[in-house]
Amino acid sequence: MARATADRVDALMRAERAVLGEIHASDEAYRNLLHLCDIIGDRFGGSESERQGGAWLRDRAAQYGLAGARLQEFRHLGWQRGPVTARIIAPVDRAIDAIALPYSPSCDFEGEAIWVGQGEADDYEKLPADACQGKIVVSWAESTPPPGGHASHRREKTGRALAHGARAFLFVNQNAGNMAITGSLTAGFEGELPALGLPLESGDYVRRLLERGPVRLRIQIASSFAETTSVNVLADLGPADRGGPFLITGAHYDAHDVAVGALDNTSGTVVVLEAARALKTVEALLAVPVRVILFACEEIGLLGAWHYARAMAADLPRCRFVLNVDSPVKSHPGDESLSVCGFPELVPHFTGMGQDLKYSFETRDRISAYADHFPFSVAGVPSGTLGSRPTSGMVGRGWGHTPADTVDKVNPKALQSAAALVARLLLRIAHDESFPGRHRTRAEMDGTIDASPIGWYVRHFKRYPFQPSWA
Ligand SMILES: [Zn+2]
Repeated sequence: MARATADRVDALMRAERAVLGEIHASDEAYRNLLHLCDIIGDRFGGSESERQGGAWLRDRAAQYGLAGARLQEFRHLGWQRGPVTARIIAPVDRAIDAIALPYSPSCDFEGEAIWVGQGEADDYEKLPADACQGKIVVSWAESTPPPGGHASHRREKTGRALAHGARAFLFVNQNAGNMAITGSLTAGFEGELPALGLPLESGDYVRRLLERGPVRLRIQIASSFAETTSVNVLADLGPADRGGPFLITGAHYDAHDVAVGALDNTSGTVVVLEAARALKTVEALLAVPVRVILFACEEIGLLGAWHYARAMAADLPRCRFVLNVDSPVKSHPGDESLSVCGFPELVPHFTGMGQDLKYSFETRDRISAYADHFPFSVAGVPSGTLGSRPTSGMVGRGWGHTPADTVDKVNPKALQSAAALVARLLLRIAHDESFPGRHRTRAEMDGTIDASPIGWYVRHFKRYPFQPSWA
């Protein structure tokens, strides 16, 4: 028995070394990223470019020998941007740069602006009651909470503005370079309030004018909405599914329409595909099946992940772990970090795994409704997202969600490091019959989310942030 275990550990070590060699001796991931960004384009949710990206990725997975590479189609309400005008009309008359946030409704009105700083609950507490009623609320995109504090996401900030009676919401990037920031307002349905993303330069101008006195703005947004089709890409690795435990690894391949999303998340897409390509070479050593999913429509509300989780609900209790990968190369090679979502028992486990791998990575437990692990977490499946530390010298998402999220920001060596980590984690978890991630009931998960910093949002709006109407 001890002999059999020793043989198995030895085989696992050899498999890991083979996978490391395969990935670090190849530029396949970087070449895939170049094709997706430079040839296919932005892959915005519901667009023709996204469907082309999905078909290309399915073909790539098939070429790598993954089993059953296929598309999973779903319908949703798409959004397309039209022209936008944002103009200060008092105390000066001057146009400012701005773009609409996806799912912003159309509008044309004038109104008074109000500055809410970081748009956190305590920022609103400093204002007189009803100060935001009927106003254009202007907020920094990111928050810098004290250590251990919660930094609200865009959905929470727009939700708070809406709850305080805002008529429109302006979301201001803190990174210089005239980069208007984007990010969707809802998940596949028309938003409740018009919303614009501003570059630092125009947002800070509005903020300075507000220090002198009232500021009036004219906002015109033209948006169009239409039913459209998107596709998740599915493929399988390892032994055939015989009704036992299995793993899911995934990444979203859609991007925002303001750039090609080289970092967010073409990088994660090619990292997952590269990990799968390398694991194919040691497939016999995968103890359980691994389902590879490249999700559509993450940026417009996790629509692909919600669709998949709903379609696969009956199988999810057998899923040992969901390893999602989103923006894993924002920083230097080796700066990956893992966020599990409501599964604190996994923090010491993954920390120990990093030590065993001689490749430590930061792991934390945090309820986040803003990546493709979330629909699985809601279903009680142990899950998390592998990302990376922020780009040094930048706030929040850095280049992400701006027109500057382009190929030149990607370090090909960071793709290799992240792909090697993903492949090794999957090998280890596939072998780990005593993996400590415990499945939760829906009621247990609801309780965890309610107690978290997004609990107020769920209670107020009776839905998760980024939850489509059908999920
Ligand atoms: Zn992303």
